[in-house]
Amino acid sequence: MELTKLTIRQAHEGLKNKEFTSVDLTKAYLENIKKLNAELNVYLSVDEEGVSVQAEAADKTIATGKFGLLCGIPCAIKDAIMVEGQKCTSASKILENYVAPYDATVIKKLKEQGVVILGKANLDEFAMGGSGENSAYGVTKNPCDKTRVAGGSSSGSAASVAAEMACFSLGSDTGGSIRLPSSFCGVTGLKPTYGSVSRYGLIAFGSSLDQIGPIAKTVEDAKIVFEAICGKDKMDATSTDYEFENSVTNLKGLRIGVPKEYFVEGIDKDVEKIIRASIKKAEDAGAEIIEISLPSVEFALACYYIIAPCEASANLARFDGIKYGLSAEGKDLLDVYLKSKGHGFGAEVKRRIMIGTYALSSGYYDAYYKKAQEVRQFIKQDFAKAFEKVDLIFCPVSPVPAIKIGEKTDDPLSMYLMDIYTVSVNLAGLPGLSLPVGKVGNLPVGLQIIGNHFQENKILSVAAQLEEKF
Ligand code: GLN
Repeated sequence: MELTKLTIRQAHEGLKNKEFTSVDLTKAYLENIKKLNAELNVYLSVDEEGVSVQAEAADKTIATGKFGLLCGIPCAIKDAIMVEGQKCTSASKILENYVAPYDATVIKKLKEQGVVILGKANLDEFAMGGSGENSAYGVTKNPCDKTRVAGGSSSGSAASVAAEMACFSLGSDTGGSIRLPSSFCGVTGLKPTYGSVSRYGLIAFGSSLDQIGPIAKTVEDAKIVFEAICGKDKMDATSTDYEFENSVTNLKGLRIGVPKEYFVEGIDKDVEKIIRASIKKAEDAGAEIIEISLPSVEFALACYYIIAPCEASANLARFDGIKYGLSAEGKDLLDVYLKSKGHGFGAEVKRRIMIGTYALSSGYYDAYYKKAQEVRQFIKQDFAKAFEKVDLIFCPVSPVPAIKIGEKTDDPLSMYLMDIYTVSVNLAGLPGLSLPVGKVGNLPVGLQIIGNHFQENKILSVAAQLEEKF
């Protein structure tokens, strides 16, 4: 039996029936990591000793016969999420030697379940990017085609699952960072409703947009992990009391909205064909397909690329060379700031800080930030109106499959365009899932399923029925 091929559910059954132990399962994943990490660059750190301790502890719990679905299951964690005592770099030089002083709430919850944390996964620096190429520690290669990017910003999280270097992983999504790499790597990723999962212990990028979510081999696995991490947390005031309801939504009679604005020029013809074919499958299974209009999403990218950098510029002000991480020598305080930030941050992060600071500066605030917040309201209203008529929205995750490494690094604007279908979901605070539904050559393509606030159950139920058809 190839242990690294098992889903969470299958691995749980195997552990329960004593076919293997968590130590065996963990070893199998560690072997894959040893074999593949040098080439794929999925993990930034793996604490082998700590990993064995966790697996042995899980086996003890399993031996008592009382254990949950995640006990003993090995996972990868995006290196923007804090795991106590482990380095947390956010793929930045400025946090190269930073060790997390506490567990993020999601980690606390996973540890309570007895998971085995294999290591910290690569990402775009401070989660800013769509390709993984902005990591200060090198790009993560796509396991499906090593000349291509894994997608970003949760590049290592998605690639770890696709390459069987973790059974599941956690990523974070500010403007597409769970869904886009999941689509590029052919795995299932869920960006939950804003507020359903605590952000405490996640290194903040855009606080009104960020959400942590699962990346997994199957829809059921994503659901298992989501259930384990969601809910109110007193350490995050934006988290809400949310009990995941495990219900079934039938495809028959389901009203699926397809936004006409999403199939316009610029979308790769093969991607469009695959997405349309997957919508047809839902229709054949009895769903009603309804064309909808989201007129304001045309402005979503412009709106996101004001709001996200503004929030980032405020959030990243704390990395000043004094409190955290890298601290450069300087002749006075200003010099320390300039050198620490100058050496510590990469080009994309600097670009965002400058755009954000500029857009928030007095005189420009009304023209940019305030305007963007107004547009955000229109986008929210578009979705609210759409959800009066439909139960779920189907659309692509990305207009293109995984791009070649280096293809867009000199052209940030064309890189931002890859986020065209994902950012509006964050601006509206909605849940969205990427489901692998086909391939262009060997490159996976994800269907995006968007639901109304807190309707993860509908998304997951429908995705699970569709998953069987691919
Ligand atoms: N690609 C988007 C950006 O660079 C989204 C990133 C994210 O979701 N963290 O901002």
